[in-house]
Amino acid sequence: MTRRSAATTGGSAPTAPGGTADLVLLGGAVLTMDETGSRADAVAVADGRILAVGARAEIEPLIGEGTRVIELDGRALLPGINDSHLHATWLGARWPHTFFGAPDPEAAAQVSGVLAADREARRTAILTAGRMLSEVGITSYTEPGIGPGEDDGETGCFHSEVLDVYRELAAAGELRQRVTMLALYGVLDGPSDVETVLSGIRERAAAAPEPDPAWLNMPGVKIFGDLIPLSRQAWTERPYDDGTHGDLLVNGDSIEQKAERLAEMIRSAHAAGLQIGLHATGDRTIGLALDAIADAAAQPGAPSAQQLGHVIIHGDLATAEQVRRMAELGVWLNAQPGIASITGAWLTAMMGPDAAAEAWQFGAALDAEVLVLSSDAPVLHHDWRHWIAAAEERIVAMGGDASPDAARARLHRLLRAYTAVPAAQDRAASWKGTVEVGKVADLVVLASDPFEVGAAGLPEVPVDLTVLDGRVIFER
Ligand SMILES: [Zn+2]
Repeated sequence: MTRRSAATTGGSAPTAPGGTADLVLLGGAVLTMDETGSRADAVAVADGRILAVGARAEIEPLIGEGTRVIELDGRALLPGINDSHLHATWLGARWPHTFFGAPDPEAAAQVSGVLAADREARRTAILTAGRMLSEVGITSYTEPGIGPGEDDGETGCFHSEVLDVYRELAAAGELRQRVTMLALYGVLDGPSDVETVLSGIRERAAAAPEPDPAWLNMPGVKIFGDLIPLSRQAWTERPYDDGTHGDLLVNGDSIEQKAERLAEMIRSAHAAGLQIGLHATGDRTIGLALDAIADAAAQPGAPSAQQLGHVIIHGDLATAEQVRRMAELGVWLNAQPGIASITGAWLTAMMGPDAAAEAWQFGAALDAEVLVLSSDAPVLHHDWRHWIAAAEERIVAMGGDASPDAARARLHRLLRAYTAVPAAQDRAASWKGTVEVGKVADLVVLASDPFEVGAAGLPEVPVDLTVLDGRVIFER
């Protein structure tokens, strides 16, 4: 058993009064999601932190009069799920009308106009999403793109005021997830004006940190590189069916000028010490971004790309070579496996079978240790269990080893891509993302061990319980 002070990292005694835990969960498969895939039987929690992880007999002495004891009865316990690219305000406002897989696709297609017009509506949307996400074990997410770029936006879900509402909820202790947010100075899914984005980057770099970054943190900016292949607007080496190569989402007279302006935004954000979440799907856009990041990191006195943890968001057409380069630079690939399963045939029609066969390099990204998984809800449903299954399906379809041993090892890494790795994307791996002593007690209990059913069976495994900061916030 490992046991250490909850409040400090160097102490040797628990800080709970009398050495007892507030909450103990025991008699199950504790999947710590550390790198080696270590397991235990029981966990003790005190003051919102993990007090001890070990065998049942080692944890039982920490049970006192005030301890809530939960018998796991063989169920699995994992770190809370971190959906590292999820538009919670938009999800809450649109629900249940996701873009793909909605219960009533016709009704979903008709949703338009302002969905969250004012402070109250924005608050309701965030709280609605927060409850839904708790029900599937999500305890952290990244809200990628809130800010002045969308103050006149159609839906109202990305308006600057959304940040004010998050601040209020964080201060009142009402958030049901830990939130990382990226600031948006350009418009959503439209061309950015370079001067507007550059002045936004300066403004963000000068902004004071959030008062409690463990609950609400704003480490950087969202920048739009290009759009998506399905609208022929990803900037690509391969031509589309109409002979074009797509475009960049930057105002400019020529593709060369747009490329230089995008590179300038990336270099400026890096020089300012901001994390960049770059919406990029085409291989040419991704190549440009990696060059710009490498240039920025090579400047004297500049932080490394690793320190800032930039994120290529979507990266649908990233090549295997680009994925390896991301690993060298320390750049994350934040991907949505559901998009691969839902739009694969569509991509074949737009770009041909070779492009579709080489898209969505989840296996290469997993091997390179840069893969972070997310839902992009409300584009897709927020249920991560489906997207782990979809990632496995895609990797095997691309020639990944389908033997039981390889599948088990891969399931461990896919689960990490929804827990430990997004914590690293959040630059918070030292205090969340695994079940280890001293880390925050954000936990999820599944009705059975995912390794018994495999990735394909995971969507059928119910989520039984969600613990946030040591408090049970959802019970099935
Ligand atoms: Zn998105």
